[in-house]
Amino acid sequence: MIKYILWDIDGTLLDFSLAEEKALRASFKEFDLPWPGQKFLEDYRKINKEFWEKLERKELEKIQVLEGRFYKAFDLYKLDTSSIPAFNKSYQKHLGSVAAFSPYGLEVVLDLKKTYKQFAATNGTITAQKGKLKKSGLDQILDGIFISDQIGYEKPDPRFFQSVLDHVGDSIPEEYIIIGDSLTSDMKLGKNCGIKTIFYNPKNLKIDKDLVDFEISDLRQVKSLIEKINKNN
Ligand SMILES: [Mg+2]
Repeated sequence: MIKYILWDIDGTLLDFSLAEEKALRASFKEFDLPWPGQKFLEDYRKINKEFWEKLERKELEKIQVLEGRFYKAFDLYKLDTSSIPAFNKSYQKHLGSVAAFSPYGLEVVLDLKKTYKQFAATNGTITAQKGKLKKSGLDQILDGIFISDQIGYEKPDPRFFQSVLDHVGDSIPEEYIIIGDSLTSDMKLGKNCGIKTIFYNPKNLKIDKDLVDFEISDLRQVKSLIEKINKNN
């Protein structure tokens, strides 16, 4: 019986790509750097993904990801890399100041609140995640917030989920479900911890189904899906 919903934040409840572009542009402006254009954004996103996946595999430390992605992207575009540590801090601050919901994100969370306890389960930084959860109002709506930076472990490390269990005080994995847009962090965490997974796939990308229990393309599908799971248990 599902009682608890763990929500990934970036790319799931909140629209990350919009916030990411706005925050990057704001930091470029703050550091008097010319905006290198759309191609830079595409290249940066590829590099960023690659670095976060290294973190999930424990090949890098968090700070090496946060700053390293900028070193690599800036090098590629021959931009001055001397202010990257400060640039990253500025970017985190700007990321925390923008929050836009994914389609139906807010109404779905409000509706589910009547029946389930819901938590944020996110791998971001404290500055960015706390900022955007507050800005979006999710800090008031959700029943708790778990940020990897605070816990000390990133999804998909099972110790991330252990700290959720310790906090909630209910340690039956079958009562939890995780909803997210990442196979390597969200879905893998589910597999690692024996909790059910819902993959949010709004663009209907081709995926490795082995990692996923359920797949949705619209957040409004969550309610009936969990009701169906609970009926069968
Ligand atoms: Mg995500």
